Amino acid sequence: MGVERCGRCGVPIYVRLAAVWNDDGTITGRLASSTRVVQIYSSEINYILDGISERIGLDISRIVVEGERKAGVQLTGSIFGKWKGLVGAISRSWLFSRMVFGFVLRAARNAGLGRCQLAGYRRNSEMKIEVSRPFNVPILAGDILGAFEVFARRPGEVFWEMEGDWVKITVRAGGERAFSGEERLEPRLPVTIPARFELQRCSRCHTPLDISRRYRFDLEGGIATEVDTGRRVVTVIIDSLLAVFRELEEELGPEVQRMIVDLESEFIKGSTPTDIQANESTVWELLGDLRIKGMGNPTEVSVDEAGMLRVRVENPFSEELLAGRVLGIYQALWAGPARVEWTPDTDGYTGIEATGNGGEKRKE
Ligand SMILES: [Zn+2]
Repeated sequence: MGVERCGRCGVPIYVRLAAVWNDDGTITGRLASSTRVVQIYSSEINYILDGISERIGLDISRIVVEGERKAGVQLTGSIFGKWKGLVGAISRSWLFSRMVFGFVLRAARNAGLGRCQLAGYRRNSEMKIEVSRPFNVPILAGDILGAFEVFARRPGEVFWEMEGDWVKITVRAGGERAFSGEERLEPRLPVTIPARFELQRCSRCHTPLDISRRYRFDLEGGIATEVDTGRRVVTVIIDSLLAVFRELEEELGPEVQRMIVDLESEFIKGSTPTDIQANESTVWELLGDLRIKGMGNPTEVSVDEAGMLRVRVENPFSEELLAGRVLGIYQALWAGPARVEWTPDTDGYTGIEATGNGGEKRKE
């Protein structure tokens, strides 16, 4: 397996073939340069999705599948649409489609999505994929369904069953939904604000050194772990994550947005040490992983006399998750109930303000 890693920093070759870490707090896909990805704890995504389910008392799997399916259709179209005729070739050629699926499944493993294998394939009519230690089954199922629909050029249905550590996902052509190629909107990268600093990079492969310092990659098992916390990290396409949130909002109502902020703040509060000083430099430190995760570039942190915490994040990946993050940090460091407000990202940044009861510092 030695050849699969950079001889100097140890980062798997596939990891750097798949993504580019920019200095401005974004990570972009190399294969599809119009996609932006983020590295996020799998438990973070699951905490939010499970939390929404619990709060509304409804299994949201099918809504998640549908959001992810739409994103899958768009993204597969844009990734493979670059090479004219490739989608057509895949739908016609058995060997070629096997090769492409092999490549895609390999990429999924390197993104930390688990070990994926093709377990059965009848061209344009059925596809079976097995995944070990899936981080979130509805997300995977929606992804696979979307990709299948682009190649088979027809709607499909997805089913799954768990067997121990493995999930078996089956996609079959059919179902009532009409499939239209027009769903395939062209994803566009938002304009980004350039950074005023540079990431330290490996002199050989140019991957940021923080990647090899922070993460451990089990290439065989398709698992990436953050060394410090032991937590699993997955690389997901931001557009698909946001498509799931959008679908939930459309199906369940606008209050989903606040739910996402609340749940994210709970998650972050729970994972922030509480025995540290409540001040600006601690907040800077706690936001230090945003850039390397592709979540955005924090450029301003301030706490005023009244105890209001203001944070500016340029190139934010999701205003809701960042607002939830700042709120969670605030709650962990300053006592009492707190609330958060944020500005929507229209010009490449979000301004977040968290404030509590009188802003009393819990600890000096
Ligand atoms: Zn390297």
